[in-house]
Parts: sequence; C-alpha cells; structure tokens
Amino acid sequence: MKPSVLITKRVYPEAVELLRERYEVDYEATDDGLSAEQLVERLRGKQAVMSQLTDKFNREVIARLEGLKIIANVAVGYDNVDVAAATEAGILVSNTPDVLTDSTADLAFALLLATARRIVEGHAFVHSGRWKKWAIDLMVGLDVHHKTLGIIGFGRIGQAVGRRARGFSMRVLYHDAVRAPAEVERELGAEAADFETLLAESDFVSLHVPLTASTRHLIGPGELRRMKRTAILVNTSRGPVVDEAALAEALHQGVIAGAGLDVFEREPEVHPGLLNLPQAVLAPHIGSATIETRRKMCLMAAENVLAAIEGRRPPNLVNPELWERRARG
Ligand code: NAD
Repeated sequence: MKPSVLITKRVYPEAVELLRERYEVDYEATDDGLSAEQLVERLRGKQAVMSQLTDKFNREVIARLEGLKIIANVAVGYDNVDVAAATEAGILVSNTPDVLTDSTADLAFALLLATARRIVEGHAFVHSGRWKKWAIDLMVGLDVHHKTLGIIGFGRIGQAVGRRARGFSMRVLYHDAVRAPAEVERELGAEAADFETLLAESDFVSLHVPLTASTRHLIGPGELRRMKRTAILVNTSRGPVVDEAALAEALHQGVIAGAGLDVFEREPEVHPGLLNLPQAVLAPHIGSATIETRRKMCLMAAENVLAAIEGRRPPNLVNPELWERRARG
C-alpha cells in the first residue's frame, strides 16, 4: 500500500503533483483550514502532513496522532506546532527557512517606507479625487534615510532588513538573544544594543523574533512609552509579539507616530482601534507572499515530506535532536 499524506489547505499545485507521483494524497483544496477534530480524523492512517500556520498542532491533538512521521509546516515560523510534544511523540517537524527571507525583508521595508512616507494615505487621497493643488506641507512624512533602525531579532530576516537599511544610509542597531558574528556586524554596519537602548534611540523598530513564551507581548505599553514619539513600529514577525490593544492606544494618544503591520494577534481579526487610522499601514499577513517564494515554500515542505517517508533526514528539521537520537539507535 502506498504511504498516505494529508495536505490541510490549498498549496501550489507543483507540490501536490510531486507528492501524488508517489503517495496517496488527501488534499483539502480549500482555504478553510481544519479543526482539531478534523485534523485528527483526516490523519488516521497517514504518514505525513503538509500543514500551514492556521493548523493548530497542540499537545492534545498530537497525543491523538498515531504513526505520523512528520509535520511539514509551509512557513518558517512554527508557533502553531507544540514541538516539544511532537518530539516526545516521535514526530519530526520541519519548516521552510531561507527561501522566504528576502521577500519578508522586502515587505518589512515596504511597510516602513509606506508608513513613514504616507503612501497609503496619499494613494487614497488621489483616488478619491480630493487632490486639488500641490501644497508645501501636503502629505509630509518622515525621512527614512540617515535615521536609526532598531532590529529586534537579528536572525535570517532581521539581518536581511539590516542589509536593506544600508542602502538608505541608516544607522542599524539590533537586539537579539544571541550576539551576531563580528563579520555580520561589520558587513551590515550593525551595532548590538540592549533592548532599552534600542527602543529609546530608534526612529524605526522592526520586529523579527519568532513567537515563543519569551516574545509574547514583547512590545507592550511600557516599551511603546520608551520609544520616541516620532518612532514607527514595523511588525512582520507574529501578531502576539505586540500587545495590539496597547499599540492601538499608543497610536491614538500619539505615544508613537505610526505602525506598519503585517501580522495581528487574532488574525484575520484586527483590533478595531487600528482600523481607519491613517498612521497604521496594515497588510493581511503577506510577508512571504510572492509567487516565486510561495511556490518554493510549498516545494520545500513537500521535499521534507518525501525525505521523512523515505527514511532520509528531512533537510529543514526544527527538532533535529529526534533524528539524531534515532540515528544513534
Ligand atoms: P531566525 O530564527 O533566523 O531569527 C530569529 C531571531 O530571533 C534569532 O536570531 C533568535 O536568536 C532571535 N530571538 C529569539 N527569541 C528572542 C528573544 N526573546 N529576544 C531577542 N531575540 C530573540 O528566524 P527568521 O527566519 O528570521 O524568521 C523570524 C520570524 O519571522 C519567524 O519565526 C516568523 O514568525 C516570522 N515570519 C513572518 C512572515 C510573514 O509572513 N509576516 C514570514 C516569514 C517569517
């Protein structure tokens, strides 16, 4: 009998074809997502699942899965999977790093520029036919070049944002749990800073940490107050890294000047205080959403499924210790 794989949501067809060449594929070709109950039900007798960030593989769900070899998430973030529980249950977990780094960094920079230069507001103004004359202070925004960018989470995407900032002659500060290698600091002209200093000195603060217990609400009312009143916050990491109610309040009170957000605490819901606020530029979680990148992500997840089923080491494991423990016997 052929091995059997579940694809929980619509993906690029190339990835489905790749899996169909060898396996039975149960493909949920919709954008609806599966409930916990449906996930458990549809995974009965399957060896692998290609999942997305809306599929919640918590401890309870994982405890009910039998014979599953791999959860191959089509995303670099894997906060939707309880990795410790998966490891205990002997299930490999993989993600899709690197292929989305530059696209996500591009979007972070696009949000930064759009917020600082009021592009979305200007676009709505022109489209509405309200633009009647040029004026010296029409839609004036804030300079980006030569300003200070504070990057929180200086991993793959954080560093790629730093690389873009060089082209804008920006001063780059970063804060990370791990200090970057000296050659990376040199190449990007980036200075390590403690969290408080970065918040106080940055004109733009861009978030690139994963969502974990230690980063949930990393930016709350106190952190927002520590930022400059002219500062702009950019979040392309995960919504819960920012206390969204506190951010909405801070924008209304002028505690900071603006925010460019791609991710939200309860997607697709957005805090009502952020809606219709011209200084908040909002995107529907499209950090990695380019045709090229999304295709690569789907194929990468499919490759991880192939490897797991064929007994090879999946290239993008987030719990490699499980593989290594098995290899040692
Ligand atoms: P990465 O692992 O390369 O980088 C994350 C960095 O954060 C690491 O350097 C790590 O040391 C640091 N970090 C972790 N916890 C920290 C803490 N408490 N304080 C300070 N630093 C901490 O990951 P990446 O590939 O750069 O991706 C980062 C995140 O971006 C992903 O986890 C994902 O949630 C998010 N993401 C979002 C989109 C989107 O569509 N908006 C797309 C891709 C990635």
